[in-house]
Amino acid sequence: MFENHLPTEELQALDAAHHMHPFTDGSALNKKGARVITAAKGVWLTDSDGNRILDAMAGLWCVNIGYGRPEMAEAAKRQIEQLSFYNTFFQTTHVPAVTLAAKLAQIAPGDLNHVHFANSGSEANDTNLRLVRHYWAAKGKPTKRIVIGRWNGYHGSTMGSGSLGGMKFMHAQGGMPIPDVAHIEQPDWWMQGGDSDPADFGLARAKQLEEKILELGQDNVAAFIAEPIQGSGGVIVPPATYWPEIQRICAHYDVLLIADEVITGFGRTGKWFGSQTLDLRPDIMTIAKGMSSGYAPIGASLLSDNVANTINDAGEFNHGYTYAAHPLSAALALENIRILEDEKIVDHVANVAAPYLREKWEGLIDHPLVGDASIVGLMGSIRMTPDKAARAKFKSDEGTAGYICRERCFANNLVMRHVGDRMVISPPLVITKAEIDQFIDRAVQSLDETHAKLKADGLM
Ligand code: PMP
Repeated sequence: MFENHLPTEELQALDAAHHMHPFTDGSALNKKGARVITAAKGVWLTDSDGNRILDAMAGLWCVNIGYGRPEMAEAAKRQIEQLSFYNTFFQTTHVPAVTLAAKLAQIAPGDLNHVHFANSGSEANDTNLRLVRHYWAAKGKPTKRIVIGRWNGYHGSTMGSGSLGGMKFMHAQGGMPIPDVAHIEQPDWWMQGGDSDPADFGLARAKQLEEKILELGQDNVAAFIAEPIQGSGGVIVPPATYWPEIQRICAHYDVLLIADEVITGFGRTGKWFGSQTLDLRPDIMTIAKGMSSGYAPIGASLLSDNVANTINDAGEFNHGYTYAAHPLSAALALENIRILEDEKIVDHVANVAAPYLREKWEGLIDHPLVGDASIVGLMGSIRMTPDKAARAKFKSDEGTAGYICRERCFANNLVMRHVGDRMVISPPLVITKAEIDQFIDRAVQSLDETHAKLKADGLM
């Protein structure tokens, strides 16, 4: 489809005239022209100029099984022919919705046995926000309304999910955060830990949750939401002391724990869910992205027996999306999970790809520009710095070095994303050792070129 596309310049001109891009300075992009991606297979993208680009971001942290799987095309065709749409309102259900809900209950940890479907991570987190308040009202504690998130956490882009997130540059536009949402600091030792020991810092950051609950009043706090490992915030891996203390605090103060596993779910960390890798026991889990490997939009809230039973026993929960559990999306999620299981892709991450990548990724610490190299499973980051020992920032604005590096990667046919001056990666889980070698070669070349440019520009 669309193989015989217009010349690149014409596509770029139409894009500039009519297409507004997410999280983009539109006027700057329109002058430059967007890169046009025309095809993809496995871990490789093709652009309209015929370049083959290694996608170390799996799209947007989502294409876990790799691009262009024919089984997925077959599953889509079968489902459209069988039942192209039906909703799950008004006491109806359909086969893909039931089958997928049961499958998710089977693979999810603990007693997360109940699924409330959405079409994206943002929508699922909006569901969570309303759901936890409704839960506490049903428990006879309607004052428990405040949800605590973290600065530099990311939970989506709608008013609700964007408020739960702690991206200050988002809050600066359009009236976020909404009321009854609070934030604590993130466990980013490299940026914020100063002279403290990482273990002490992790504990101190977790204790901020306790302090916030006491400040707001235990009777007013409904839930705490966090990503097991921050993704969009820069792949920040918390010190090992952090999560056990958070878990203790949530249990002690009767605060629901929402693990946002939109990135960390479906094998990304080397187990099915990040909660298993980090030993969390959430009451609610947000999933999306790797749930369908990006082949169709779908997300969900997985609820514990206690939470789901309480909601079910409280009458009607006045909430839902037309396309929740859309048959096509549900069928593709099911086929995606089948492929993950049958091809033992999570084992491939744990036993082959992640150990191999880890060694090479952590080896980047020897590069003159790299001050930190973190990785869990197949999500990782490197922090660029002009002075490793001092954990210093560049003279330029935060993000300038990162942007230069991202551009050098693109020029070298590699997709790595930058978050400030951190470079982040999340390749498809099916990446092979040979592809990891190619990836690292291109990453090192891009870092060398970035280093040279930063020196030439007097920025370090
Ligand atoms: N939560 C997390 C942890 C995410 O990383 C994202 C997307 N990057 C979202 C929620 C929002 O998901 P979506 O873009 O599908 O709305």
